[in-house]
Amino acid sequence: MSRIPILSYHKINYPNPESTEQCLYVTPKDFEKQMNLLKKWNYMTVSLDDVVSSAKRNRDFPKKPIVITFDDGYLDNYTYALPIMKNLGFTGTVFLTTDVIGKTMAFDESKEKVPEKFMSWEDAKKMAAFGFSFGSHSCAHKRMTKLTDEEAWDEITKSKQIIEENLSQPVKYFCYPYGDYNEKTKNFLAQAEYKGACTTKRGMNHTPETIFELRRIPVKNNTNILKFVFSITLKYINK
Ligand SMILES: [Zn+2]
Repeated sequence: MSRIPILSYHKINYPNPESTEQCLYVTPKDFEKQMNLLKKWNYMTVSLDDVVSSAKRNRDFPKKPIVITFDDGYLDNYTYALPIMKNLGFTGTVFLTTDVIGKTMAFDESKEKVPEKFMSWEDAKKMAAFGFSFGSHSCAHKRMTKLTDEEAWDEITKSKQIIEENLSQPVKYFCYPYGDYNEKTKNFLAQAEYKGACTTKRGMNHTPETIFELRRIPVKNNTNILKFVFSITLKYINK
């Protein structure tokens, strides 16, 4: 087993008071505090490849590794998170939803009714130039288990292809929209040559069997610095 914390963020921004999903905002100020703390405590950002290889070898990573992920591909990841992380020498992984790249809109099925700004390919390219990597969060951000086999396969393969073409880097990881998946989704991902996938399950215990259901630590608007410290340092049980 390996225990590398994978943080999951959505929006690094000042909350829009109209938003129905306030919990998904972490203010740039809070985010900076969290990143500074990681730096001060000698954490180093590693990749999902490192998580997977460490899980396969059943060995903990040396030093203090951490993975920083962002779901959906909001423009604010570029505007606010990138400069903060870049200053500290940190990198992360952004899971892009290919249908909304460069657009301002609300996801169809999400609870969020306020349109959000998503990053463009140009923004993503600039992040890639600073060492960020990109995964797929599907094309249309639909619940994978509600799709037909053909639709699910398309969401998995087309999004991968589109990101690879636009960013000229391999897309090896998937993140399930709404954390929704089943055995078939996992099999499709393996067939489509993904190396792993992130869920919304909490925890940081990774084994060879859970590479397609990686657990993460959600950081939300109510995650104060104490809670943040607690969640990354406690070798907490999967639940
Ligand atoms: Zn999402």
